[in-house]
Amino acid sequence: ELTQWFFKITEYAEELLEKLDSLDWPEKTKHMQKNWIGKSVGANIIFNIKGFEDKIEVFTTRSDTIYGATYLVLAPEHPLLNSIVLPENIDTVKSYVESAKVKTEIERMSVDRTKTGVFTGAYAVNPINKAEIPIWVADYVVSSYGTGAIMAVPSGDERDFEFAKAFNLPIIEVVSIDGKLHGNDECFSNYGISVNSGEYSGKSTENVQQLINAKLDEMGCGGAKIQYKLHDWLISRQRYWGTPIPIIHCSVCGIVPLSIDELPVLLPQDIKLSSTYGDELSPLATSDSYINVKCPKCGEDAKRDADTMDTFVCSSWYYLRYPNAHYDKGPFDPDRLNWLPVDCYIGGAEHATMHLLYARFITKALRDGGHLDFDEPFTKLYHQGTITKDGAKMSKSRGNTVSPDEFIEKYGSDTFRAYLMFMGPFDEGGDWNDQGITGIDRFLKKVWRFCQLPNSEENPSKKDLQLLHQTIQSVSHDLEQMKFNTAISRLMEFINYFSTHESVGRDFKLNMIKMIAPLTPHIAEELWENNGGEASVFLESFPEYEKSLTEEDTMTIAVQINGKLRGSVEVSKQIEKDALLAIVKKNENVEVHLNGKDIIKEIVVPQRLVNFVVK
Ligand SMILES: [Zn+2]
Repeated sequence: ELTQWFFKITEYAEELLEKLDSLDWPEKTKHMQKNWIGKSVGANIIFNIKGFEDKIEVFTTRSDTIYGATYLVLAPEHPLLNSIVLPENIDTVKSYVESAKVKTEIERMSVDRTKTGVFTGAYAVNPINKAEIPIWVADYVVSSYGTGAIMAVPSGDERDFEFAKAFNLPIIEVVSIDGKLHGNDECFSNYGISVNSGEYSGKSTENVQQLINAKLDEMGCGGAKIQYKLHDWLISRQRYWGTPIPIIHCSVCGIVPLSIDELPVLLPQDIKLSSTYGDELSPLATSDSYINVKCPKCGEDAKRDADTMDTFVCSSWYYLRYPNAHYDKGPFDPDRLNWLPVDCYIGGAEHATMHLLYARFITKALRDGGHLDFDEPFTKLYHQGTITKDGAKMSKSRGNTVSPDEFIEKYGSDTFRAYLMFMGPFDEGGDWNDQGITGIDRFLKKVWRFCQLPNSEENPSKKDLQLLHQTIQSVSHDLEQMKFNTAISRLMEFINYFSTHESVGRDFKLNMIKMIAPLTPHIAEELWENNGGEASVFLESFPEYEKSLTEEDTMTIAVQINGKLRGSVEVSKQIEKDALLAIVKKNENVEVHLNGKDIIKEIVVPQRLVNFVVK
């Protein structure tokens, strides 16, 4: 039991949830954050305990079922448990609590598990109908969610139902699909019509919920409440490597935060890291020079907080320093904040509920402190895939790691880099293949040859121009979508097309160099210089395409005779109807099928097909 610091992330639960919709993030990641925050709309209900001053608060999403609450359950860790247990029940409760301690929460909450529990001897009073119901302790209720206590409604909850069956507790049907009674052979967890619920019977359960919540509120026994699974963030760590907590503990003034001009607090050097191994004590506590300070408020002897912060604290704001990493007047340069937020953030999906949630929270907290003017740190998020070897994750223990050095030595870093991009979709990764890199090697050699071709003096053919502009179009699109593998495929097609050319227009070469520059920067820069490019290719803009030049000027028309496909023709997009029909009729196969027949009707579907109805 340590005294530790928390960040109040729960204060931001609603905004963290709401703003997810505005983010261009993978849906799966947003969904994980949503579940992690875990919003439930319901009510808190306060039960009096018969013969005690203490009260038990529960949270429920179904206050409409309160007439069906036939017992209360406390988690074994519930703080009130010891004070309400009757003397004759103490021994059984104690040994039950001990046995629950060795089980994990997941085990305890598992639906399949046989329910266990013991009676405390105490009774709670239902605030709505004044029914006295027994208070049990059972480990299927955990203290980390909600209040650590539940009102059990066996007729409407599967786990309560099983528990009631196992311990012969009453089951009262309170929700019916049609307002009729259906008995207690199974539990019914949906909404419907309230039954056996006093003045509320016959009303829709949604309506009853509102009425009960209002009544609880009026009685001072609870009312409507929103609850989150999200907990406050425990940031204290008993470690040396971390950001010191800038707090002084003074016996006179209590907890005194350091002022801004006393920051940053630096870690001490005179420390033996192993001195507190195995203890729940930070190594910093053993450094006298660090720990013992004067209180900034009263000047008396005081001590620094000996803990450091969770490493996730640092990774929550490090991006703010990127625009000016040399700034020395504070954690980040306020004059460069206009570079932010981060347009596109790339990182592993494993960060979904920790780093990516903490960074969002810290950004909002800094905004509210007047330090930032944006709400979200990362506008677009992209998860990279994993590169495997022989289908398995690379690991040193498995001995299936690939050393880039060996391949860079043999093929160069550009080739290696391009192969990584080419081997699979960026967000899926791919399986490493020693031979696969040779394909990229050949491609880059062809690029090299292409860019060394003599400059052509002639005007490029229409087809050449079209291919160039189509390639620029698809490569731009693919790079923006981070589809590096398909971008490289398009460049391969482009290069292959020119493989038999003996010369090529200089602008074709320069455009090619600009397109490969983001993929193979060293080769691109070299070729840029070879071709008389100015300064650096990286000071150039990415090539732009002309839409009109990308469009194919021919189209394929299918030819049918009596609805059956008999051939197809390639014609100009501008062709007139009569000219089209003339060409179609000269198609060899069509001619055969038309031979000796009378054409009754000629149907032309523009851009698509011609159908002859014949007899
Ligand atoms: Zn003081």
